[in-house]
Amino acid sequence: MMKAHEREAYTAFKEKFFDWLLAYEDHDHFSKTMLSLFLLLKQELMIKEVTLFLFDPFEKTFYPEVTTKEDLLACDVLPNAEFQTADPRQRIHIHENEQCMIAQLLLQQSEEFSGVLQFVYDNGQRPSQVFLEQIVTDFSRLFSKMKKIARGLSEEKRYERLHHFTAKIHASMKIEDVLEEIIDTLQEVYPSFTYYLFLSDDHPYHERLPIKTLMFEQADENMAAMQAFLTGKIQLEDSIALQRSILYAPIKGAQGVYGVIEIIASHIMEFPKSEINFISLLANTAGSALENAKLYEQSRRLVADLQLINETMHRLNANLRLQDALEFMVSQIKRSFGAEEIGFFMFDREKKRLLPGSTPFFQSRQAKKYIEFVSKRIRTERDMVFLGDAKVDASPSAPIYRSLMAVPMVQNGMLKGMAIVLHREPYHFTFEMFKLLQSLIHHSTLAFANAMLREELENLVITDYLTKLYSRHYLDEQLQKSMEVDAFGTFILIDIDNFKSINDTYGHQTGDDIIVQVANIIKQNIREHDIGARWGGEELAIYLPKVPLTTGVAIANRLAAKVRQETNPPVTVSCGVSYWKKNRREEATELFKRADEALYMAKRSGKNCVFVKDYQHQYKA
Ligand code: GH3
Ligand code: MG
Ligand code: MG
Repeated sequence: MMKAHEREAYTAFKEKFFDWLLAYEDHDHFSKTMLSLFLLLKQELMIKEVTLFLFDPFEKTFYPEVTTKEDLLACDVLPNAEFQTADPRQRIHIHENEQCMIAQLLLQQSEEFSGVLQFVYDNGQRPSQVFLEQIVTDFSRLFSKMKKIARGLSEEKRYERLHHFTAKIHASMKIEDVLEEIIDTLQEVYPSFTYYLFLSDDHPYHERLPIKTLMFEQADENMAAMQAFLTGKIQLEDSIALQRSILYAPIKGAQGVYGVIEIIASHIMEFPKSEINFISLLANTAGSALENAKLYEQSRRLVADLQLINETMHRLNANLRLQDALEFMVSQIKRSFGAEEIGFFMFDREKKRLLPGSTPFFQSRQAKKYIEFVSKRIRTERDMVFLGDAKVDASPSAPIYRSLMAVPMVQNGMLKGMAIVLHREPYHFTFEMFKLLQSLIHHSTLAFANAMLREELENLVITDYLTKLYSRHYLDEQLQKSMEVDAFGTFILIDIDNFKSINDTYGHQTGDDIIVQVANIIKQNIREHDIGARWGGEELAIYLPKVPLTTGVAIANRLAAKVRQETNPPVTVSCGVSYWKKNRREEATELFKRADEALYMAKRSGKNCVFVKDYQHQYKA
């Protein structure tokens, strides 16, 4: 029987408990709330001190959580750990000494909660057994209810976070954002754990992300992670040596596993089932978001690749000259692949002809090793070459290109040539780039072959169809011969002034006619062995073998005057003159270049005039 005064006191306590309950706020800290309850207990039931001990399943001991004593640690008797597993009917333990009596009450309602409520009484204040039993029953139920409320609240918060996470990662199409959000969410929900992401592929992601590479070669080092990756199932691992427990959750989408989340607890513990459920939900959500982001990135890349091929083909088919076509391809490859050197070669029986437009490196002696290495492989294996860390034994002074891609140019089953793409950094090119290069070359080989054929044909023709002057190619050939046998010669480059406006005013037909008129004036004013040629468009040229500069200049001036007087509609021309002498060895291209520079000066100084550029000076003549 409960004593009368006990019943009275307990009733009074219950009344005040109701007030306490109303004041209880969900978000208040557990210890703080409990302390106010215990102070109430102490006061109403005449107890000297009230302390609550909670059970630590890792340490397998009780520890004081809340006490009405000033000094938390100065508890007289720690509850015995056996208490926890002992007969539940033995829920009350009494200790006595000279000053006081200690009653320890085991509160245990559900498996997840276990605590000991300790009352210290002054001697003489002995409570009845019935009263203590009542307290055990009531407080066990109270704590278990509070635990449930608290758990509900934290679950709610957590699922709210999961919802936020889901919304955020599905809104982003960037893989990096998804990975970052996984880490942020976990860190927020379980701040005391450490996290890593195991990824299997290349991951050029931000350094902020704690990423590890899943290495198949070293599978035994991260066995559990690999297991999670391969089976798509959560794996648990306890490391007794390192005193920690690790959980591996696969990031799984509908089409595969993309990585593994590693969650490390800094002590040995058992991950509760509810937490494992939550983590796997999070990992699966991340998996499907990652899958979406990957598919999106893939399709974007495919679209970009198609655009590149499409644009390139368009330009190549627009009847560009071979060199322009190649220059365009080279610039595309440089831009899209970040390549450093690009060379195009045509095979002509045993010879390899470097095509103009390739980067200058391929003309150097140092490039020889690379060209030999690749052409040997392409000729023998008829296959492409893709090396992430090429060990081409080039001369020590040469730059070393570690990344190498090479693709054969095949037309009608015949090996026509090859393209080589280089970069100094190892593993610079991705396999995607290599595939793209392959299709780029595959699609452009025909256009190249056509452009080459066209240029060969042009070279066979020695007269220009419109003006009946010689072709540029012919002039070039004759000049080379003259430079071998003669002592000197003069070259004149002629450009019709403001020719665009002639076309615009009178039409293309008249434009053509003017070109013919100027060509005829040229023919009438040169001798049989002089070579008048169509240089290109509305530019004409004359090569005068064995003619000194002064004579050449006179011819140019006479020509300019005649054009001024005789053309209809009237046009003027500008001329650039250059010459060569035997004792100065130079290439034909030097001669052309100087004439071009003189012509440029003539245009700049007002057109309708003749300029000369000799070896040192340029001047109006
Ligand atoms: P500038 O005085 O600086 O030489 O002016 P321009 O107008 O002559 O300029 P530019 O040399 O840049 O342009 C030449 C134009 O001649 C461009 C092209 O449309 C036209 N053209 C080139 N070849 C032919 C051709 O065979 N026939 C006709 N009718 N026009 C041509
Ligand atoms: Mg021009
Ligand atoms: Mg012009």
